[in-house]
Amino acid sequence: MYHQKISFIVLTGVLFFSTTLVAQNKVGNGLKAIKEEDLKKDLYEMADDHFAGREAGTLDELKVSVWWADKMRAAGLKPAGDDGTYFQFFSMWRNRISASSSIKINNRSFTLWKEVLVAQTAPANINAPIVLFENISKDNIDVKGKAVVVKVSKDGINLNVSLPERRYLGYVSRKYAPDLINKGAVAIIFIADDMAEKSWLQNVPAMRRGLYDVSSGPSENVSARAPIIWLHSNELNFVQSSSTLTANISVEHFEYPSVNIVGKIDGTDATLSKEYVLFSGHQDHDGIRYPYGTDSIYNGADDNASVSVALLAIARAFHQQPGKRSALFVWHGAEERGLLGSKWYSAHPTVPKESIVAVLNGDMIGRNNPDSAALLGAQPPHRNSIDLVNMALAANNEGPKFKLDTLWDKVTHVEGWYFRSDHLPYARAGYPAIFYSTLLHPDYHTPMDEANRIDIKKLARMTEWMYRTGWKVVNVIERPKLDPNFKLER
Ligand SMILES: [Zn+2]
Repeated sequence: MYHQKISFIVLTGVLFFSTTLVAQNKVGNGLKAIKEEDLKKDLYEMADDHFAGREAGTLDELKVSVWWADKMRAAGLKPAGDDGTYFQFFSMWRNRISASSSIKINNRSFTLWKEVLVAQTAPANINAPIVLFENISKDNIDVKGKAVVVKVSKDGINLNVSLPERRYLGYVSRKYAPDLINKGAVAIIFIADDMAEKSWLQNVPAMRRGLYDVSSGPSENVSARAPIIWLHSNELNFVQSSSTLTANISVEHFEYPSVNIVGKIDGTDATLSKEYVLFSGHQDHDGIRYPYGTDSIYNGADDNASVSVALLAIARAFHQQPGKRSALFVWHGAEERGLLGSKWYSAHPTVPKESIVAVLNGDMIGRNNPDSAALLGAQPPHRNSIDLVNMALAANNEGPKFKLDTLWDKVTHVEGWYFRSDHLPYARAGYPAIFYSTLLHPDYHTPMDEANRIDIKKLARMTEWMYRTGWKVVNVIERPKLDPNFKLER
C-alpha cells in the first residue's frame, strides 16, 4: 500500500519534480561512515601529550602533520598539496626581542622577562629622564622626551572576556599609551598592580616568542617605537627615586617553517568535479607554555583537534559516497600564530582559486551545552553568501537540529569571534565562507583543553552538520553566490 501510493504520486508532474529535489538533496550514504568511535580514537591520539601541543614552526607540528597524512591516506584522501604530496610548506617570518637587549634604570640592570617585560616587539634606543605620571586625569605634567612611569589601575577596563589575565597587559597599554605617546613620551614604564602581577607569568611565553607573519621577507623589519615596559609592583619606590631610563632593545628577524596539509576526494560529475568544496580546520595549537598545576602541555583537544578529526570523518564519508563536485580538505598550520596557514592557502591555493566554490571552516566544536552551537558568517556584515548560509541552516534542520546562537556573530559581541579563525582570510579574499563553532569555555588556551573533556556525541553531531552542508554544496547545480557589498567592520 505504501509503495503504491508513492509510485502514484511520482507519476504526477509537480510532485515528480519535488521528489527529484528531495532525492538530490538527501544526504549521502557517507553519513554512515561518520562514527563516534573513530572520532574519539583520532581525537585522543591527536591531542595526546606525545605531540606536545603541536606548536607551529616546531618539530612537533611537522611530526603531527606527517602522522596525519598517513591517516588521510587510510581515510581514502588523495594528496592535494604541492608536488603530489599532502603538504604545502610555507614560511612564517618571526620577529622577537633579542636576548642581548638591555634595560637599565639609573645604573641598575633589569633581567629580561623576570624583572622586566618588554610589551612590544620593536627596537628602541632610549636614554631619557624619568617622570612619574600619577593620575591619568591630570594632564598638566610635561611628558615630552620623557620616560613616563605609570602606576596602572584596572578602572575602566572591561575584564568580562575570555582569558582576562592574559589580555590585561594589552588592555592597560591601550588605556594609557596612545595618549602619552601623542604627548611626546619616548618610553612608558608600567608599574604592575595585582592583576598585572597575575598576568605576568602568563604573558611571558607569548612575549618571548614575539610576532609571526607570512607576508614579510628577509629584508623587512619592524620600525622603532616608544618602548612599553613593565616592572613589578615592588619597584615603585626605586623608580620614583631614579632619574634615567636607558633601554637598548633589539629585534631578531628570522624565517620559520609551517605547513598546510591538503587532501581531496574527487567528485563524480565530469564537469562539476573540477570544482571544490573546501573543508577547513587547523592542526596546530600552542605547544608548551605557562603551567597550570603540573601540566604545561597545551593539547588543544577542542582547539582544534575536534575539527581535525571531524574533517577526517567527513573525508571517510565522501570516500564512501563522493558527490558531484570534489571535496577538498585543508588542515591549516599556524592558525594560532595569526591565521597564517589560511592567509597563505587563500592566496596560494593548490587548486585554481575560482574552482573553490565555498569554504566550510570549523574551530572548537566539542564543548558546551549538547544542544547548542553557532554558525558565524551568518549575519551581515559577517555574512558573505546567503546561499551558503541557507544551505548550512537547512542542513542543521535536516540533521542535528542544534539551537543556534545568534549573539556571537554580532558586531557588538565583545569576543569578536568571527575574526578569530581560518575562514576569515578566505572571506576577505572573496570565497563564500562560514564558520562552525561551539564557542568558548574556561579551558580555552590552557593545558586543561584535553580530550577527556570533549563531548563525543556532540562532536559527532557537529561533524554531521558540516558534512550535510558540504553534501548540499557539492551537489547543488548552481554554486553559492557571494553577497553584493560584503564589507567587514574591521
Ligand atoms: Zn586557539
